[in-house]
Parts: sequence; C-alpha cells; structure tokens
Amino acid sequence: MSGRLEGRRALVTGAGSGIGKAIAERLSRDGARVFTVDLQGEVDRQADVTEDGINAALIAKAVEALGGLDIVVPCAGITGFMPLEGHEDDFMRRVFEVNVFAVLRLIRDALPHLKESPAGRIVTIGSTTSRFGDEGLTAYGASKHAVLGMTRSIAAEVGKFGITANCLQPGAIDTPMTAPAFTDMPEFKEFWINKAALGRLGQPEDIADVVAFLCSDDARFMSGQGFFVDGGAMQRH
Ligand code: NAP
Repeated sequence: MSGRLEGRRALVTGAGSGIGKAIAERLSRDGARVFTVDLQGEVDRQADVTEDGINAALIAKAVEALGGLDIVVPCAGITGFMPLEGHEDDFMRRVFEVNVFAVLRLIRDALPHLKESPAGRIVTIGSTTSRFGDEGLTAYGASKHAVLGMTRSIAAEVGKFGITANCLQPGAIDTPMTAPAFTDMPEFKEFWINKAALGRLGQPEDIADVVAFLCSDDARFMSGQGFFVDGGAMQRH
C-alpha cells in the first residue's frame, strides 16, 4: 500500500544492515522520509549509539534534515553467544548499553519531537528469546525482555500525546547478525527452521513490513504490545 506514510519523518538506527536496512527501505517505499544511522555502511550518519550524548545529537540532526520527527525505530543491536560462566561484567554491560540504554536514550530524546507529531510512533525491536530463552543468550535475552518492558511503560506514558509504542519481537531472521552462527552451527539453523510452523527462517522484509504497518494509521489503536513475528515459532524439540 504505497504512500501510506507520505509526509512522515522517521529515524531508524541499525539501518546499514539486516532488519534495520529493510525497515528504512520499507518506510521510504511507503512515502516516509527516513534518517538512517549505523556504525558503518551507506547511512545518513555513522555513529555508535552508545557514545555519550550521541542520541540527542542524532535526534537534532534528523530533525534538522527532516523538519521534525514522527517515527523512531531503534533497531541497532548486538547479540553474542556466551556460556553463562563467560558472562563477564564488561560483556553484560556492553549488551545492555547497546540493546537497552541506547534505545531508551534515543526514545527519551525523540519525545519532545514526537509530541509535536499528529501520529507519533515508536517501534522497538525485541526478540523471541524473551519467549523461549536460548542457550548462550542470557544477557541478550535479558536485554530484549527489558526492551519489551520499557516499551510497555513508555506506551503508558506517551499515549496521552497520541503516540503509540510497540515492540516487534522477531524470530530467527536471516541477517548478517545470525549468518555466522547459522554457518558455524548448521544444526542451530535447522532447529529454528523446524521450530517455525512456516518451516523457514525469516527474511528482514518479513519484519520490516510489520514495522511499516505499526507506523501507519491502520495501527492507530495498537499500543503497549509485543508482537512475535516468527513464522509461528513453537516449543518443539
Ligand atoms: P545486523 O544485520 O547485525 O544489524 C544490526 C546493525 O546494528 C548492524 O549494522 C550493526 O553494526 C549495528 N550496530 C551494532 N551496534 C551498534 C552501535 N553501538 N551503534 C550503532 N549501530 C550499531 O542484525 P539484525 O539481525 O538486522 O538485527 C537488528 C535488530 O533485530 C537487533 O536489535 C537484533 O537484536 C534484533 N533481532 C534480530 C534477530 C535475528 O534473528 N536476526 C532476531 C530477533 C531480534 P555492525 O554490523 O557494524 O556491528
């Protein structure tokens, strides 16, 4: 449905790769103007979202470029398989810095602009790790569950400004993040394919299309929700 985001202005982080890239492309195709951020790649601004003060700077740049902000999608994230015994403090801090605190700061700093939008939208990216748990992903799972919790509380607070906040929780998606694990551990890839009722890995576009829907007027009465977009992942062994 081309044009449904005509006139909307969006900021997407992690937009140089995988899911974030697909989201930026889909929002653009639907008519939004999109300011893209990533560590590297073809984006409007290369930045590490965990740097001190960077989120306010990114919001300022996006607002300067777009004339305001209606949509924020903090998609930048890291994973990292690590046995529990290897969960050193620095490792856990880094996972939470990127996956939780940078997300919260970006939304916090975007809020004054979203309040001015007639249709403010926040879409965070959680994970099915919240639902099933995954061996070796304890810090990651904790961080993604934190994203869901923060999104619900944000939704409760910003609804009075007409802003919605939802958390999209992908299953196993074929991206540069998962590619090394799927190559090194083919049995892990098979596990996820078998777990999905639809019998395949997700593609970044499977996620991006739902994000675009959540950003659209069609989703105007949906807020504070977590949505699993995982091909019907089941607890199968
Ligand atoms: P991806 O292809 O690795 O994309 C993530 C992007 O975020 C990368 O370009 C990465 O840059 C960037 N990034 C990482 N740390 C950053 C930082 N500090 N500052 C700025 N950018 C940073 O992975 P993806 O699979 O698309 O993941 C996107 C989101 O979906 C993540 O939040 C992830 O947790 C979530 N997710 C993914 C899956 C999946 O199966 N793929 C499932 C559930 C949830 P570099 O590549 O340069 O590090």
